[in-house]
Amino acid sequence: MSGEPAATADEVKQQLLDTAKEMLTSGLVQGTAGNVAARLPDGNVVLTPSSLDYLTMGLDDLVVCNLDGEVVEGHRGPTSEKALHLSAMKRYPEINATMHCHAKHCTMFALTRQPIPAVIEEFVVYVGGDVPVANYETTGTDDLAEEVAGWVGDRSAVLMANHGLFAVGKNPADVMHIAGLVERTAEIVWGARRLGEIVPLPEATNQQFAGYYRYGRTGKF
Ligand SMILES: [Zn+2]
Repeated sequence: MSGEPAATADEVKQQLLDTAKEMLTSGLVQGTAGNVAARLPDGNVVLTPSSLDYLTMGLDDLVVCNLDGEVVEGHRGPTSEKALHLSAMKRYPEINATMHCHAKHCTMFALTRQPIPAVIEEFVVYVGGDVPVANYETTGTDDLAEEVAGWVGDRSAVLMANHGLFAVGKNPADVMHIAGLVERTAEIVWGARRLGEIVPLPEATNQQFAGYYRYGRTGKF
């Protein structure tokens, strides 16, 4: 974030829309599932609307809410997972974009409630460690929002038990990259386990690379 020119509200909305469409076309969701949010320069949050086709979605369809969840702009209702996104934005001022999706391999891990292990160097740098599994709470509730947000303080992704993935990032393109990387890694780990036992990274490497993630997120090791 530091050193990059700040995006305007219109630019953030366009980035959010592009990311929502990419989430669909890259197969992280099907139909109208999943949702994306981004923080605007004034501190409000722009979110994808509830139950609308991503392919025909336009800038006018996006919804702006304040951090208390009140709609301040837009003619549609915000995503039913609004609380999930706002809870993470409230807790982590350095997080400016969030995504929830039902990526296939991530959801396989979420159903069996297994963390996705941090066994690839690049993955640790972008995610900060294993992707843990948050405890089950019902979709769309404040309890789910609080439970899930609590897990992404030092990493960029968490699995939602029996549901899917939640990812956080610096901006919409960053969170799209993270969600795609986590899904790709979930597939690789799933396949590798069929070939044999996965050899973990050395602990020192994991700690060093997790430090790179923290530094990239907060500016501090
Ligand atoms: Zn969902």
